[in-house]
Amino acid sequence: MRQRPAAHSLLPSEGMIRISKILVAVDFSSESKAAVGYAVTLAKALQSTITLFHVFEMPELMNSIVPGADNAVDAARDRAVAQSWLEELRADTKQHSAVEMSVVVEHGSPAQGIVSASRDGGFDMIVMGTHGRTGLRHVVMGSVAEAVVRRALCPVLTIHLPVPDRTI
Ligand code: AMP
Repeated sequence: MRQRPAAHSLLPSEGMIRISKILVAVDFSSESKAAVGYAVTLAKALQSTITLFHVFEMPELMNSIVPGADNAVDAARDRAVAQSWLEELRADTKQHSAVEMSVVVEHGSPAQGIVSASRDGGFDMIVMGTHGRTGLRHVVMGSVAEAVVRRALCPVLTIHLPVPDRTI
């Protein structure tokens, strides 16, 4: 039988963990806005920078439903709208804190986009909301948070706001 490792050998040594870049996944829900609040608090304490990140979903999926839909126009419009909403969120947040904050909008699937951005951008932590869907709603709609937690290479902090009625 293998020997149990000494407890201290499981711990990263002091100074190895540095949270200098935080990615906040924003879908403009209350949960994701709460996630921004948590990220700001962490960033202040740890002297980190924050990137507010949104993924807008593929208009080509729409095209298979609505033939003739103009993907390029839809994508450009969706990107511009998301960009301006993120800028607004940044401006609101900056009124209350001096944390360095940038905004990024990507096109694709939310979970995949968040995981790729965190990996490619060398982020040390993801902060995001979770709706905590259960039962049928979870089966039908899935969970972005769950997919990100499973696939991200960095730690993920999920923020779950209390919801009064959580039956399906
Ligand atoms: P869930 O309720 O598990 O599907 O996860 C919701 C959380 O995932 C939101 O609070 C956001 O933090 C994040 N999220 C969902 N969709 C997007 C998106 N399109 N862009 C960025 N983050 C997203």
